[in-house]
Amino acid sequence: MRQVKAETINLLPTPDYSSIYTPGAIQPHGILFALQLPELTILKVSQNTDLYFETPANELIGRSLETILTRSQIEDIQQGFAENLGTLNPINLSIRNQDFKAIVHRSETTAILELESIYTSPSDPHTLTRKAVAKLQKTRTLDELLQQVVVEVHQLTGLDRVHIYQFDEQGAGAVVAEKTREDLPSYLGLHFPAFDIPSESRELYRNSLVRFVPDINAEPIQIIPNGHELDLRATVLRSLDPCCTRFYQHLNSAALFVIALIKDQQLWGLISCHHQTPNWLSYDIRSACELLGKFVSLELTHKVDHEEFNHWIKLKSLQSELIESISQTQNLRDALITPAPRLLDLVSAQGAAICLDNEMTLVGATPTESEISHLLTWVEDHIRDSLFHTDALPKLYPPAEAFKQIASGVLLLRISQVQTYYVLWFRPEVLQTIEWAGNPTVSIEVAENGSLSVSPRSSFEKWQEIVQSTSLPWKSYELNSVLELRSAIVGIVLKKADELASLNLALEQSNRELDSFAFAASHDLKEPLRGIYNNSIILLEDYADRLDPEGIEGLQTTVRLSQRMEMLVNTLLRFSQLGNVELHLKPTDLNEILAETIEMLQASRPDIPFDIRIPRSLPTIECDPVLINEVFSNLVSNAFKYNTQDHPWAEVGYLTQDELATLHPPRQESTPSVFYIRDNGIGIRSHHCDLIFKLFKRLHAQEDFNGGTGAGLTISKKIVERHGGQIWVESTYREGSIFYFSLH
Ligand code: ADP
Repeated sequence: MRQVKAETINLLPTPDYSSIYTPGAIQPHGILFALQLPELTILKVSQNTDLYFETPANELIGRSLETILTRSQIEDIQQGFAENLGTLNPINLSIRNQDFKAIVHRSETTAILELESIYTSPSDPHTLTRKAVAKLQKTRTLDELLQQVVVEVHQLTGLDRVHIYQFDEQGAGAVVAEKTREDLPSYLGLHFPAFDIPSESRELYRNSLVRFVPDINAEPIQIIPNGHELDLRATVLRSLDPCCTRFYQHLNSAALFVIALIKDQQLWGLISCHHQTPNWLSYDIRSACELLGKFVSLELTHKVDHEEFNHWIKLKSLQSELIESISQTQNLRDALITPAPRLLDLVSAQGAAICLDNEMTLVGATPTESEISHLLTWVEDHIRDSLFHTDALPKLYPPAEAFKQIASGVLLLRISQVQTYYVLWFRPEVLQTIEWAGNPTVSIEVAENGSLSVSPRSSFEKWQEIVQSTSLPWKSYELNSVLELRSAIVGIVLKKADELASLNLALEQSNRELDSFAFAASHDLKEPLRGIYNNSIILLEDYADRLDPEGIEGLQTTVRLSQRMEMLVNTLLRFSQLGNVELHLKPTDLNEILAETIEMLQASRPDIPFDIRIPRSLPTIECDPVLINEVFSNLVSNAFKYNTQDHPWAEVGYLTQDELATLHPPRQESTPSVFYIRDNGIGIRSHHCDLIFKLFKRLHAQEDFNGGTGAGLTISKKIVERHGGQIWVESTYREGSIFYFSLH
């Protein structure tokens, strides 16, 4: 036994077996006729007729079958051809004192009649089959069933070696149950590469269900005349392909009997019986075994499905718990990872990563965040129908070699393409030792021109292949399960988005209504207010001499209050207009806007030296210049208003790309999008930072800082939001503030 590392053997080429259906010869334990319908003229015949009825084959060509059969036998055969379902097979025939089983099949134009010599079996196959079925019915698991099958078939056939051979998805097989003569070596657990039983042979088994070769070494009998070889796919006497013959010879087998096991119309496996010496099984025994094979196929389908069903039920309950959590929460990430094992159990993974936009959450054993980010970039081109999965990632994506111990297997589910939402599951490397029946690589011969061909290897001594960088494979029901999870998530998220959209719509509607109410109210208030003011002024100017000092003071208060009220009404009017006003977006040089702002400020307060610092020239951006001017004015004037320093200053600038990345959440924009106004003013206590953006909210009495109505920041906020941006403040009390606003 040798230990080697090798790439998986299943990748080896399959030899040409195309002549397997048309070998032009049969096995010697019977005769084969190709007949012309309807007269049953002999078109072709195997060359061994003289052995059975003393008439040489070449003398039969072109003659009617009546030359050798009686009228009533011909009628039976004709009926068999007419019925063409094979249910009349076999027909018992006695020809010149020799007993045969006659088997008929037909294609479009040609009919084939096979005559097989009769062998009687000592045992009664029907009783044995009944007993076998009764025992098989009692088995509970698939393993028990298969083990019992080999015991029963061994008993029915008496052959040396009976094993069940199960195919994998690539067509390679493994011996999964065995009953063998005690002195023979065991093949249990051994793997056979796909080319040992090529797809052509597998196709034959799928259609014919049983194959009997009583003497592998017997010389095949040619069918004459040759040329236009007959398709012998449906025949029982078809001779063995020379390549197959050598394969069985190397396995030390002299007789072969194979029963196909079918699941979901696919060849699931074979009950393969070998004998070291030639061995003839009666037709009845073979039919009994065929029947048993059909029963096993049904039972095995039931058992496999049942085992998968149990697992599937477990999976379903995990899945529905997960979906319920998702539907009840606002936070998809939390719903997926609480509790963490549930997400892993869903597909029997050891690790998972949830990537929601730029945020990544890791659960269990996973590669690092940066390794996963790189993997995500690569995988993008390999996703099909929202899924990517492999059980051998390092073979497809070499950087995975570095983390193959934890992630040789990857299953990726894309939840949303627009939002780059992914869930990835990881499975660790499982070093699999595959025991092959003989080193399959020695079967490969390289010709001088470099082409590869396969010839049966002569040794079946156990040979180990260690498969690396591979995880356990992802099962199809696991893939289906995550796809179902995706639909559920998408459904829930969409429903939530819908609800949010209709809420927003309602909110927008009520905002609009509020705006127009505010507009109407403030507009209507202006006139009476002006009246109160004007009348008070007239009273003060013309009737002051008739009023006592208290009356005058009262009137002066009325004037002041009406002025103040007018200011408030104007602010409200401005604010309510902002919601409806159309934006006039155009490329705007912010340096110019800032210069205008400074000029205006300077004009209104010529006494203050406005120290405004501009570390780097401001960009030109797409915005409404009039409105953005208002934002700059508000923020810059506040910087000097709320400032008690001897040398007040303000700095106006924008964040660089590096600085943008440090924001929470980080931003990645190539053009400047976040602007700031920093001052060395009085600062704002942190719990007031949100309050100041509310309408008419001031932190100080109006007269304290020569403040306004407390609407400047609210208006700035509304303008910034109308531009799709945000405004916020960072401040240290008594040291200064930075007002940021973003524009898209
Ligand atoms: P106003 O128009 O009355 O100045 P704002 O809406 O502009 O009102 O400001 C609201 C409140 O926020 C102000 O009353 C002031 O207390 C505070 N504030 C605004 N800007 C600054 C700043 N740069 N430094 C400190 N406090 C500020």
